[in-house]
Amino acid sequence: MKAYIHTDIEGVAGWVFYAQTAHFGLANWHHTQRMNRLLTAEVLAAVRALEADGFTEIYVNDAHGYGYSLLFEEFPESCRIIHGRGGHGPGWTPFLDETINISIAIGQHPMAGTPCGNCNHSIWLLTDGKGNEHTLSETTMFALLAGVKGVPLVMVSGDDLLCKEVEQKIEGCALAPVKTSLGLQNACTLSPAASRKLIGEKVREGITNRTHTRPFVLPDPFRLNVADRDPAKPELEQPLEGDDIWKLMHAVCNRTYAKFGNTDAVDDRTFRWPPL
Ligand SMILES: [Zn+2]
Repeated sequence: MKAYIHTDIEGVAGWVFYAQTAHFGLANWHHTQRMNRLLTAEVLAAVRALEADGFTEIYVNDAHGYGYSLLFEEFPESCRIIHGRGGHGPGWTPFLDETINISIAIGQHPMAGTPCGNCNHSIWLLTDGKGNEHTLSETTMFALLAGVKGVPLVMVSGDDLLCKEVEQKIEGCALAPVKTSLGLQNACTLSPAASRKLIGEKVREGITNRTHTRPFVLPDPFRLNVADRDPAKPELEQPLEGDDIWKLMHAVCNRTYAKFGNTDAVDDRTFRWPPL
């Protein structure tokens, strides 16, 4: 069986704020090292639970910002790690296709505008084919992309507010709230040992419930926009429209934050530097 683990870092137990990347001091260096270790350990807790249940092919998507946060050398043979320059691959979720049995999301954070949401950012503003308006976090946008491929999101870890959003949208998804948000840069967090134990338990619960957890789908056609920090200030003047949420999501990304689709390639052996 095949599983897909989508990862971010702001929802990991122990993360409460970003490193001050304008300063190259040792404190920031250590912050990055520690957070990468904590993220890797949480993902490995999910991997072990999947392996114990017979999953032999596990794709792990290193999807936070720069796309190189996971300690690659820590992963077992069952895993393939998707990593590299963030926002510059062929898409946001390579290898997420119809052959995957279940998906999981680790280290997830609340959408932009969530009151008291720890490191809340990013919000997808979506109108579906029935005229219903939705606000989606990166996590539920991931669930929607997985849904296009018929893949259910069976388990999520992150802060309590993100978990609440997922609970409202995806019935049956097992939730591991590894911290309680107390503000933009504050949280009350489980210990690393407790968070990894909870993640393992919830992955097992998600696997058990997977036949009842439906892929997350919404009716087309769609209108889509995105905002980074303030939901009232979307990035595009007009939302983009389309029937295919996969293509539409990447079209919005390419108009705002990302350069998906190998735009750095001049030919198959030459790449622009610095990238576009
Ligand atoms: Zn992130």
